[in-house]
Amino acid sequence: MLCERCKQRPAVNEIVVLEQGIPVKRHLCRQCTIELMTGYVPVVKHCPTCQMTQNDLVRLRKAGCATCYTVFRDELIKMTRQYQQGHDQHVGSIPVQLRSPHERIEERLEKLAGELERAVELEDYERAARLQKEIKQLKGQGEA
Ligand SMILES: [Zn+2]
Ligand SMILES: [Zn+2]
Repeated sequence: MLCERCKQRPAVNEIVVLEQGIPVKRHLCRQCTIELMTGYVPVVKHCPTCQMTQNDLVRLRKAGCATCYTVFRDELIKMTRQYQQGHDQHVGSIPVQLRSPHERIEERLEKLAGELERAVELEDYERAARLQKEIKQLKGQGEA
C-alpha cells in the first residue's frame, strides 16, 4: 500500500500521529516517518495540474503550467525578486548622466574656480576673464 501521507511512496511503517490533536494510526513511508518523528515537516506545495512540487519549481526556476502561477504565486514572486536583486548588485557608482544637473554644475564650478586661481597666479588675465565669465554663466544656471 501507498503511504497515507504523501501518497507517492510505499508505506513501510505504521505509526500513530497526531492530527489536529487526535492520535491517528497511519501507514507511512520511510520519508514521512522520519519527517513526522523528527518534527521536521516541510510544507511542500504541489501543483494539482502538472504535479510540480515546490522543490521542482526552485530547481527548474520556472513554472510548469498556468496553475503553477496560482499555487506557487508567493514563491515565484520571491524568486523574481531575488533574481532582480542579483542584477542590482552589478550597478556601480551613479553614471554622470543620471546625476542631477545641479550636482554637475557644482562639480564644474569647483574645477573652474581652481583653474581661475591658477590663471591669476600665472597672470593669464585673458584666461581668468574667460573662466570668470563661465563661472558666472554656470552660477546663473544653478540658480535657475
Ligand atoms: Zn510518505
Ligand atoms: Zn502546474
